[in-house]
Amino acid sequence: MAKLCITVTAPTLGELRERRDRAAAEADLVELRLDTVADPDAAGALAGRTGPVIVTCRAAWEGGHFRGSEEERHRLLEAAWRAGADYVDVEFAAWETPWVRAARGARLIASFHDFEGVPGDLAARHRAMRASGADVVKIAVRPTRLAQTLALRELPADRPQVLLAMGEAGLVTRALPQRFGSAWTYAGEGVAPGQVPASRLRGEFRYGAVTPEARVFGLVANPAGHSVSPAMHNAAFAAERLDAVYLPLQAADAEDFLAFAEGFGVEGASVTIPFKTELFDRCRPDAVAAEVGAVNTLVRRPDGWDGFNTDVAGLLAPLDGRLALAGSRAAVLGAGGAARAAAGALRKRGAHVTIYARRPEAAAAVAAATNTAAATLPPPPGSWDLLVNATPVGMHPRVDETPWPGARFDGRLVYDLVYNPLDTRLLREARAAGCDTLSGLDMLVAQAALQFQLWTGITPDTAVMRRAAMERLAAFQPPSMVRS
Ligand code: NAP
Repeated sequence: MAKLCITVTAPTLGELRERRDRAAAEADLVELRLDTVADPDAAGALAGRTGPVIVTCRAAWEGGHFRGSEEERHRLLEAAWRAGADYVDVEFAAWETPWVRAARGARLIASFHDFEGVPGDLAARHRAMRASGADVVKIAVRPTRLAQTLALRELPADRPQVLLAMGEAGLVTRALPQRFGSAWTYAGEGVAPGQVPASRLRGEFRYGAVTPEARVFGLVANPAGHSVSPAMHNAAFAAERLDAVYLPLQAADAEDFLAFAEGFGVEGASVTIPFKTELFDRCRPDAVAAEVGAVNTLVRRPDGWDGFNTDVAGLLAPLDGRLALAGSRAAVLGAGGAARAAAGALRKRGAHVTIYARRPEAAAAVAAATNTAAATLPPPPGSWDLLVNATPVGMHPRVDETPWPGARFDGRLVYDLVYNPLDTRLLREARAAGCDTLSGLDMLVAQAALQFQLWTGITPDTAVMRRAAMERLAAFQPPSMVRS
């Protein structure tokens, strides 16, 4: 297994030591960033340490904060090395320094950071850095496309090294370092772009709980970082004791995801905005997905990708036992992808569906595609049994909004597809008026459970997935907003 290194920064040496000792309790290695400290002192930073440390003092020209001269910087690094730091990280561009040459690479990390992209001469740089004799070579690049991370996997990995990608697209290199030939991964409070705290790496992304051969699944999205899907699927993998992990895969476009997935061996994916229709054209959709014109799930087969749409069944599942759909009257607010899936699904179950949207032409288009009706907002009095909000109105952070201000809640059940927050203004007002309510979380969990089944053949424990989603959502909102 690759090790976990926590990077610590601090305004003062005293705080750096305190943070160092806290980090040492949960990491294999602690990186001390002396360049962030106002009163840097190598011996002081190392004094009383309880575990192995890397000392670095990053120059401003390599993304660091050190404001002193290069001589001062090297004095600090050399002092740390002489004081017995387990490793001292020195930029490869500053390698030709007498003390570094004299150290002959022992306990040294030769590092290179590119905050703009992936250099074209990556292989040549890697070769030169290895030839330096450093005990460890570290390369950190900033890909703009997910598939660019694959370049790191092409570099020889027969000696200790850390190869990582910064930024959102690089998460996979941090969560699965072994797959990139890395001896350790870095975690911390976002010290570098895309870096995540150790607790999140372990808790949400199963770091340390899966083997280097783990099956890989992911979420194709842009942005992908705030999704609750990794928490839900990884909790279910853990509960089923599967050697599998689910990661946010922030792709630039459909092509980017497919190139990465082929190269990395991704076995399945959830698909969200804006890829639901883009990837539809690149897979074999099943009948449900073909009808909706969008996929939210991909499963890799030896000869390509099969596409599914679990939003349809996921939307219907929470309604079972709540309302008899056959012959009921459903009002759907919105005319986007979710509205289209909702209208089609409800109509198939025998509901009389009317689409209400702020753009009448969009409502008419969805109605035509789903063989339902369209009308102008708001729904007239006494016109619905089920009201479905398929607009994003009321979603975090604009939680004070409602898709239907001054609504007349004279129907039976209000179903808000928004799940963040769990209890939206629409649902609160509907409950106050005596309506039964359903949160978007019910659909989210149901569609995710169906994805899990498609990938693994196992029916997951939805209570586990629901709890994980709620815990993740709680990170976005005040506790008062989190209700089951
Ligand atoms: P979408 O394709 O972008 O469609 C959004 C629809 O909402 C459009 O018709 C849009 O109208 C309308 N809309 C946006 N802002 C509005 C406003 N201020 N007033 C009135 N209408 C407005 O999005 P989607 O994929 O259908 O998703 C819609 C919502 O469902 C999102 O909140 C999403 O998170 C949620 N959802 C939940 C789940 C789940 O599992 N719970 C699954 C899928 C979707 P215009 O076209 O005029 O902009």
